[in-house]
Amino acid sequence: MIDKARKEKVCLEEQCGEQWEAMEPELKQSCGNFVYCPFCAGEMVIRCSACGETIHDSSFQYCPWCGTGFKD
Ligand SMILES: [Zn+2]
Ligand SMILES: [Zn+2]
Repeated sequence: MIDKARKEKVCLEEQCGEQWEAMEPELKQSCGNFVYCPFCAGEMVIRCSACGETIHDSSFQYCPWCGTGFKD
């Protein structure tokens, strides 16, 4: 394993995808602390950037699905 994955915080609602895409990059960076999606109020989930699977514990150091290590 050379590449490290990031823990991405995302909303899984498809309808929010476009709005997230349109968001200013600066604003997007601060979204990592969000608990609820600002567009649908759904709970944000943490996702492995390498395989896209949902991570249930933010303290994980490695992705339980693909084994990739997380940065920081
Ligand atoms: Zn949403
Ligand atoms: Zn993964």
